[in-house]
Amino acid sequence: MSNKSLANLMSEERRFPPPAELAAHANVTESAYAAAEADRLGFWAEQARRLSWSTEPTETLDWSNPPFAKWFADGKLNVAYNCVDRHVEAGNGDRVAVHFEGEPGDSRSLTYAELQREVSRAAHALTELGVNKGDRVAVYLPMIPEAVIAMLACARIGAPHSVVFGGFSADALATRIRDADARVIITADGGYRRGKATALKPAVDEALTRPGTENVRSVLVVRRTEQDTDWTEGRDVWWHDIVDRQPAEHTPEAFDAEHPLFILYTSGTTGNPKGILHTSGGYLTQTAYTHHAVFDLKPESDVYWCTADVGWVTGHSYIVYGPLANGATSVLYEGTPDSPHKGRWWEIVQKYGVTLLYTAPTAIRACMKWGDDIPARFDLSSLRILGSVGEPINPEAWIWYRENIGAGRTPVVDTWWQTETGAMMISPLPGVTATKPGSAQVPLPGISATVIDDEANEVPDGGGGYLVLTEPWPSMLRTIWGDDQRFRDTYWARFEHRYFAGDGAKKDQDGDIWLLGRVDDVMLVSGHNISTTEVESALVSHPKVAEAAVVGATDPQTTQSICAFVILRGTAKEDDGLVEELRAHVSKQLGPIAKPKRILPVAELPKTRSGKIMRRLLRDVAENRQLGDVTTLTDSSVMDLIQTKLPGAASSDD
Ligand code: ATP
Ligand code: MG
Repeated sequence: MSNKSLANLMSEERRFPPPAELAAHANVTESAYAAAEADRLGFWAEQARRLSWSTEPTETLDWSNPPFAKWFADGKLNVAYNCVDRHVEAGNGDRVAVHFEGEPGDSRSLTYAELQREVSRAAHALTELGVNKGDRVAVYLPMIPEAVIAMLACARIGAPHSVVFGGFSADALATRIRDADARVIITADGGYRRGKATALKPAVDEALTRPGTENVRSVLVVRRTEQDTDWTEGRDVWWHDIVDRQPAEHTPEAFDAEHPLFILYTSGTTGNPKGILHTSGGYLTQTAYTHHAVFDLKPESDVYWCTADVGWVTGHSYIVYGPLANGATSVLYEGTPDSPHKGRWWEIVQKYGVTLLYTAPTAIRACMKWGDDIPARFDLSSLRILGSVGEPINPEAWIWYRENIGAGRTPVVDTWWQTETGAMMISPLPGVTATKPGSAQVPLPGISATVIDDEANEVPDGGGGYLVLTEPWPSMLRTIWGDDQRFRDTYWARFEHRYFAGDGAKKDQDGDIWLLGRVDDVMLVSGHNISTTEVESALVSHPKVAEAAVVGATDPQTTQSICAFVILRGTAKEDDGLVEELRAHVSKQLGPIAKPKRILPVAELPKTRSGKIMRRLLRDVAENRQLGDVTTLTDSSVMDLIQTKLPGAASSDD
C-alpha cells in the first residue's frame, strides 16, 4: 500500500492532547518512560512492589533458558490474597469490589469483605471436592459474580483455572477439558443472554460423554436461572449446597511466583486454539501496573467497567486480576448491550456513575450502527477515560467513541495486547500521550516492541512490517500447555530472539505504531500488499457503512482479489448504486489498487464470542469452499445467511 494512501487514513494531524486536569493528577507521567528505559528490570522490580509478597523476590528476570522466562522466581505470594484480603486488612472491606448487573435487571453489590468470605468458602469447597495444588479446574459460567469468585478460589488454593466461554459448544468445551486434563468443572444451570435463560449444564453433560474427559470427578453447579437440570448423582454438586456451609475464613498459602495461575485457550480466529499458560507473580505485576497506568485508576473514586467476557483474556486481566489487585470498584454485566433495549450499556454507565470504560471496536461499531441518539438519552458525564481492545479500531469508530460516549473530552486509549502477552503492551497513557485516532501508538514503559521487515531489520518511520517484542516482559506466556515445541515454533522461530506476535504493523512519521491486523490477513493484489484493516477502515469511513470485513480471495488474474462484506448503518438502503459508490469511495481513499472487486451487504458478520471477525470463514465463502471450524462462532446461522447472498453478489472487473 502506498504511503500516500496510508497517510489519508492515518491523518496524523488529528491529535488530542490529554485533558489538563487529568495530566496534572495522572498516576503515571512522562518520566516513567525514561526510568524504564534506563533500567528496565529495576522498573519492573519496582512495579512488583505493588503486590504483597510473603517472600519478597530478590531476582527479577531469569532469561538463561530462552524462550522460557522466569520472573521474580524466588518470590512467593498468593494471588487471591493480593486481590482481596489485603484490601480488607488495609481498612477497605466496605468498598464495593463488584457491582453485578444481571441481564433481567437483578443486581447485587459485593464489598471486598464479602468477596473475601465468598472466595474463602469456595476455596474450602474446592478442597473438599479433592482439588489440590496444581490440579486444573475448568470454569464454564455466565458473567455472574461466581465466575470471579471461582477464579479467585482456584488461585487461592493454587489450582490453575481454565475458563471456557459460556457460549462455546459441548465439543469446544470437551477439547479444552481434555487438553488441560481438568478434574473439576464449575458451571451453572444457565445464564441470561438476549432476554432468554440459556442452559449451560447440558453442554457440560454432553462434553463429559466425550473420550478424554474421564478424569473429571465433580461438576459444581451454580443456580442462576432455576431451569430444570439433569443431574448425575455422585458427580454433580450444587454450589449453594457445598459452598454456603463452609467457614468464611481461609488461610491463603503462598506459592512460588512461577506457580501456574491459569490456562486460557486463544479465541481461535486463526485456527486451532492454543492453551496459553500464565503464572502468578509476573502476571499480577503487569496486569496491576497497566491497569493503574492506562486507566489512571483512582481506587477511592473511580467506577471501572470492562465489558469483556471472563472467558477471554481481557476478562481475566482487566475484570478480575488487574482491577482487584488495585482495589478497584468494578461493574460486572451479565448480558448483551441490546437487552432489553439498545441503550442498556449507557443506562448502566448512568446508574453506577462509571468513570472508566473498556470495550471492543466491534461493540463501538454496533452502537454507531444503532444511532447517535441512543447514548445521547443518558447521562454519561461521569466518564473520564475510554479504552479499546481486541481489534484495530478504525479512526471513524475511535472518533465516534470519543464524541458520542466521551462528549469529545475523554481520552481514548487503544490498547494492543494478546492472550499470550497477558497484559497491555502498546497503548497511549491518558495523562501523557496526545492520542491519534486509530493508533495504539507507543509501547508502555518497560515494554520493548518494534516493527521489522522480512529480514528482521527494524523499519524506518513510515515503513511497515511485522510487530515483534524484543525483550521479555513479566506477564508473558510461559509456554503452550503441554507443548513447548509449539510454543517455540509459533512465537520464537520466525525471528531469532524476538517474539513474533503474528500481527502486521506500520510506524508513522512520528514513530507511532499502527496495527494492521494479522499477518495472515494481508492480501496480495497484483503485486501489492494490502492490509484488510486499511480497506475496512476506508469502507467504514463512508457514512452508510457501519461495519466491514475484508478478505482476499484467490484470483487467477491478480493473485488475490478484494472481497468486502459490509453491514449498512441503520437508515442506509441497499440499492443499485450503493456498491459502486462504496467501491469509488475506497478507490478515492486508498487508490484504485485497493478497490474491492466484490462488495456484499450482509446483515451480520461471523464473529467469535469475543467479538472478532472470523475472516478465515469469509475467505471460505469468497472462495466457494466448505466452511472450516465454526465451533467458536457466536452464531453459526450467520454463515448460512451470508452464503445465500453470494450468487447475487455484485462484482465487476475493472
Ligand atoms: P487466535 O490467536 O486463536 O487466532 P486471537 O488472536 O483472536 O485468537 P486474542 O489473544 O484474544 O485471540 O487476540 C489478540 C489479537 O487481537 C492480537 O494479536 C491482534 O491481532 C488483535 N488486537 C488486540 N488488541 C488490538 C488493538 N488494540 N489493535 C489492533 N489489534 C488488536
Ligand atoms: Mg492470536
